Amino acid sequence: MLQTIEFERPAPLDNADGPVCVPPAPIVAQAWARVPEPLSTERRQELRQRARDLLARRDAVLVAHYYVDSDLQDLAEETGGCVADSLEMARFGRDHAAQTLIVAGVRFMGETSKILSPDKRVLMPDLDATCSLDLGCPVDEFTAFCDANPDRTVVVYANTSAAVKARADWTVTSSIGLEIVKHLHAQGKKILWAPDRHLGGYIQQQTGADMLLWQGSCLVHDEFKGVELELLRQEHPGAKVLVHPESPAAVVAQADVVGSTSQLIAAAVKSDATEFIVATDKAILHKMRAAAPGKHFVEAPTAGNSATCKSCAHCPWMAMNGLEGLVRLLEAAEHGAVPDHEINVDPALGREAKVAIDRMLDFAAAHARKPAPAFTSEGSQGFGPA
Ligand code: SF4
Repeated sequence: MLQTIEFERPAPLDNADGPVCVPPAPIVAQAWARVPEPLSTERRQELRQRARDLLARRDAVLVAHYYVDSDLQDLAEETGGCVADSLEMARFGRDHAAQTLIVAGVRFMGETSKILSPDKRVLMPDLDATCSLDLGCPVDEFTAFCDANPDRTVVVYANTSAAVKARADWTVTSSIGLEIVKHLHAQGKKILWAPDRHLGGYIQQQTGADMLLWQGSCLVHDEFKGVELELLRQEHPGAKVLVHPESPAAVVAQADVVGSTSQLIAAAVKSDATEFIVATDKAILHKMRAAAPGKHFVEAPTAGNSATCKSCAHCPWMAMNGLEGLVRLLEAAEHGAVPDHEINVDPALGREAKVAIDRMLDFAAAHARKPAPAFTSEGSQGFGPA
């Protein structure tokens, strides 16, 4: 089933050859997603078993994001893979002995895995699974913007293409971006930040850094609404509010905890509270419920319901990762090349992009930050850096 998606992206730069010192305002653009049909319980069980068998026969490991289908999350854990945030997915894949990484997530995650593991084969159930932040930051326009602001250190979020990362000085994730910008600010550096304007605005407000913000946004988090959240909090007065910083400022302002996916799960586990309102993709509730059994989780309100909301708190591109696609991919891989599923990054570009990623990894190591935990049903291991 094809779904048309409206999302906000910065207006194309019409003066890319001239001065472009301020970020262009957002406009509405369209994209699409191919969403798998729902499956019966019997069919899901059959496909899960088939995927388990195929994974066991191959030198392959399944690495899944917290926002994908719960069957894929469970399958990743059951078969020795992991469920994690984007950077930990890439790090896990790099450090695992398997020579084939099956990445269940969106395209930039597959690319980051390939950049960190250039000699491994990286496959994805659907290569067209993208991200509104990645789509809203085309490399030519972004490069023109950077070139027009040469006095600024370029810091990009992980949700970008390999080409954008290659143009950056630093790549950061939502859990370590604040610390890295604080560090750069203390050195007197001015920042050019891309692509998420809400996360950039949050970091700017927390650090006081001089930041010029690209005007991209996440289709899912941009839809959480401050006024509706206030009303929901009145209905759940004892609930703690967990918010991902890609959300608008009016939502972040009401948070008890602001953090990356891993940090929000860890907070739910560690908190004494028993009820939580969660402002991030609702697929994460599967892992939260497993990691914090007995606690109650409520989805934060979005702009509308069903036909009237753009994402309804679930990323349409993450939803492109389904059991049928995974089994199709594994069966095809048994018989040889799978060009429709394989991530390739130009080696020279990959090496350039890796410089900005390695700066973050080195920073995390130097500041004694532990790797982000892969959460199990038994509970979390603590907070993670990235
Ligand atoms: S949830 Fe948002 S940031 Fe994550 S992949 Fe989807 S559109 Fe991109």
